[in-house]
Amino acid sequence: MRSRIIKNKLLLEGKTKKIYTTKNTFEVLIQYKDSITAFNGLKKKFIQDKGILNNEITTLIFKFINYCGIKTHFIRKINNREQLCHKVDMIPLEFVVRNIVAGSMSKRLGIKEGIQILNPIFEVFYKNDKLKDPLINDHHAVFLEIISYEELNTIYSILSNMNNILKKYFLDKNIILVDFKIEFGKNHKNEILLSDEISPDTCRFWDKKTMKKLDKDPFRIGLKKKEEILDIYMEILKRLNVS
Ligand code: UDP
Repeated sequence: MRSRIIKNKLLLEGKTKKIYTTKNTFEVLIQYKDSITAFNGLKKKFIQDKGILNNEITTLIFKFINYCGIKTHFIRKINNREQLCHKVDMIPLEFVVRNIVAGSMSKRLGIKEGIQILNPIFEVFYKNDKLKDPLINDHHAVFLEIISYEELNTIYSILSNMNNILKKYFLDKNIILVDFKIEFGKNHKNEILLSDEISPDTCRFWDKKTMKKLDKDPFRIGLKKKEEILDIYMEILKRLNVS
């Protein structure tokens, strides 16, 4: 029988998650909160049980990615709100992969939302609250001594593989993977592991038939009713549960 995982010390608290140490120095416990945020935390709401949905959605997707042979921080789900993960030092970069033009890319380049991108675009954002997470390129990241070119190549190869796997995985569930954001960390052996979460908070999902947005965008642009926001997350979970 598996021993009970005890939460030790709160290591970090972010906008939507708390991270605790465990008895095992190489493992952490990640707890999903019931909050939803947008525009770098400027817009914020408490939605009862949203954390349960995101924990379950992220668990299903990470299990699938692990199964496909990509190394991630995810070990297993422990309960409704918590999962056990390998402890990593997070690399302070956000990687965005785009298959269809939307969001900040549409605004920045003045291109209509919905245009297909034949060769997926990878973007790098520097995680820095004071600077509001600016878009940077590989050379900036290396200059800032955050990462090496070799490590960036490793990450781009993981991103490309992951994007191909996930596009198909979601399409089978009638969901178009428009774009997503993901982060990486390094474990005690200095290996790069796909970390973070994968959920409607961090991806754009459009329904294949109706193009309805099944992600955080409706909240970003003004959807206020908690039940309607929760319905969207439940719809994603329902589709992921159908194999
Ligand atoms: N994203 C995220 N966290 C952020 C910024 C973006 O998870 O802090 C996700 C977002 O949900 C979308 C993708 O990254 O799936 C691309 O977001 P974009 O750059 O278009 O920014 P947005 O306009 O959504 O702020």
